[in-house]
Amino acid sequence: MRVLVINAGSSSLKYQLYDMRDESVLAAGKVERIGMDTAILTHEPAGKAEVREVREILEHTAAIRQVLSVLVHKEHGVLGSVSEIDAVGHRVVHGGEAFKQSVVVTPEVKQEIKRLFDLAPLHNPAHMLGIQAVEANMPNVPQTVVFDTAFHQTMPPNSYLYPIPLALYRRHKIRKYGFHGTSHMFVSRRAAEFLGRPVEQLKIVTCHIGNGASVTAVRGGVSVDTSMGMTPLEGLMMGTRSGDLDPAVVPYTMGKEDLTINEVSSMLNKHSGLLAVSGLSSDMREIEQAMEEGNQNAKLAFEMYEYRLRKYIGAYAAAMNGIDCIVWTAGVGENSSLLRERTCSNLEYLGVKMDREANAVRSKQERRISTFESKVEVLVIPTNEELVIAKETYRLIGGNEAGAGAKNPEKLPQHAT
Ligand code: ADP
Repeated sequence: MRVLVINAGSSSLKYQLYDMRDESVLAAGKVERIGMDTAILTHEPAGKAEVREVREILEHTAAIRQVLSVLVHKEHGVLGSVSEIDAVGHRVVHGGEAFKQSVVVTPEVKQEIKRLFDLAPLHNPAHMLGIQAVEANMPNVPQTVVFDTAFHQTMPPNSYLYPIPLALYRRHKIRKYGFHGTSHMFVSRRAAEFLGRPVEQLKIVTCHIGNGASVTAVRGGVSVDTSMGMTPLEGLMMGTRSGDLDPAVVPYTMGKEDLTINEVSSMLNKHSGLLAVSGLSSDMREIEQAMEEGNQNAKLAFEMYEYRLRKYIGAYAAAMNGIDCIVWTAGVGENSSLLRERTCSNLEYLGVKMDREANAVRSKQERRISTFESKVEVLVIPTNEELVIAKETYRLIGGNEAGAGAKNPEKLPQHAT
């Protein structure tokens, strides 16, 4: 069975084609600058040379058409025909309270995702374009959606509610949802497997630190708290997002700087975080490089970033009344030995003992970076959200063999709304 995984953004679309017999990636790629006559298609077929082409791609349906055509291309393709794709799985950022797990796309599911446009105006409309584009190009192929919020639907009310009038929750569903759930779920389960212990017995803090960053308290295999909120703005300081701040900063800044609410929102989402404090970059590699060269603003940005992250880890150890394992993942978490070292060397009160040599090793492998005496296991686990989406799709479509079940939509499970 072959599963195409799609992550559709407003002007970009990433894809990975999996062969589920061995979970191998047959091809991966992306279309960037959708809507322009100079859109870029990058295609990496396994075992063949990468292709990069500039084409006119004006909307998502055309983008999917181009992806399908490169997947069956005589020279660069990996399939004989498009009909070899048995199912398509989409990443969807916001599933609200309706979706506690991945589901097969039905008219009701699409309706519900549309109802959530308000909560994720930058993401969900783009995902819907991706779903519709696949429908237009491959009308008989079943599709699934895997939500970034679903893993966090196990949070209890005392962690997901905000201390504001509860009528706002009842009327508008204003609450914490959390994001990066697919990643937090994947790395917490991999961590338990790595340690050879049942996830049900573990208290894990997972640190997904990329451009966007969030920390989750995973107790007994389920999310009990997470740092992102109703939107991905809450929580940690990030590449360009502020994370937590006094909400009074918003009206005060609007008054003092004569800004609109959209301008302040854009400032907090796109012009804050590492970028704003360093005045240099949102990219941790550049921050670290500038620190080495003695740049004081970069040093301050790094210190704030680490400090805020460390406070969350401490908070989640308190939330779970203990901590067995800290997991590092995503672009910064997997690669910045400096951030891991600085953060963990300040967590000695929890019993964390870092193995400095193991931490300094550059590797794409899952690995332990704490010493054997450390009370808390510290692991680096590379995340793989696309693989989770492919596996979820495979599970939902019910195929045990190539294509089995995929072509029988009447057998598809109903969505869990
Ligand atoms: P996204 O949230 O966009 O999925 P990623 O998880 O891909 O982000 O992380 C991207 C970030 O990872 C980059 O902005 C960069 O700051 C960071 N990064 C990548 N490699 C390194 C490295 N070697 N050292 C420090 N940071 C790195």
